[in-house]
Amino acid sequence: MTVDSVRGWVAAARRVVVLTGAGISTESGIPDFRGPDGVWTRDPEAEKLSDIRHYLGDPAVRRRAWQKRLTAPAWQARPNAGHAALVELERRGALHALITQNIDGLHQKAGSSPDKVIEVHGTMHEVVCRGCARRGPMLPVLERVRAGEEDPACAHCGGILKSATILFGEGLEPGVMERALRAAEAADLLLAVGSSLQVYPVAGAVPAAKRAGARLVIVNAEPTPFDDLANAVLRGSIGEILPRLVA
Ligand code: NAD
Repeated sequence: MTVDSVRGWVAAARRVVVLTGAGISTESGIPDFRGPDGVWTRDPEAEKLSDIRHYLGDPAVRRRAWQKRLTAPAWQARPNAGHAALVELERRGALHALITQNIDGLHQKAGSSPDKVIEVHGTMHEVVCRGCARRGPMLPVLERVRAGEEDPACAHCGGILKSATILFGEGLEPGVMERALRAAEAADLLLAVGSSLQVYPVAGAVPAAKRAGARLVIVNAEPTPFDDLANAVLRGSIGEILPRLVA
């Protein structure tokens, strides 16, 4: 299946649901986890920083996590042509929902409406306290780290602070996955972009959409477990393919 034939499906679709993963942001300079240059591919130890048990149990892991947050490439990143293509899809009235596993906020920065974006794994732009569950903006806490606090505690209860993102071993925000599944089941076309589709429960949105009657198109550089289920698999650069799909 070629980009040109899939473009016809996109043009005819009325309720496109897009599911994005880390791969849509690599062309903005943010590495993914499992791609060839992925954070975990290069440094398997880094996976510990993404596990709530290590984060809560080991102050050294938290200190390392705060230093990583301070220098995360996402703070400087700009949306790329892939994000822009999804804004265009929304402008045409064809986007039903944009489910993202990304925490970088680049869809909103590109101009996607916040009410269309479902951030299943949370956002790095906020912090949350593991003690009192209060949330707040990330930047003031990063200022405290820059000023010398290695493991800043919650200003209200003294509890452990973390970024408002979902680590392995943590549950998703109540309701968010239900919203994503409802959207996927309402889709006439599900476009899965830049995800290895290995992280559950969100990957379950792909077969759910298909079962409910959607066409399934996967855009990813590497194979995924759902390629056989897809009506089309497009390999190559997302920043090059997505603009052509919505042209
Ligand atoms: P993943 O790392 O498991 O998979 C990314 C996939 O995208 C890979 O298969 C890779 O081949 C493909 N890819 C990378 N760049 C591409 C490009 N330019 N064009 C085409 N394909 C490309 O990512 P995932 O499935 O999203 O799972 C990782 C988890 O980590 C998610 O839960 C996500 O929350 C989190 N994460 C987020 C960010 C971010 O916010 N930008 C970055 C890293 C990880």
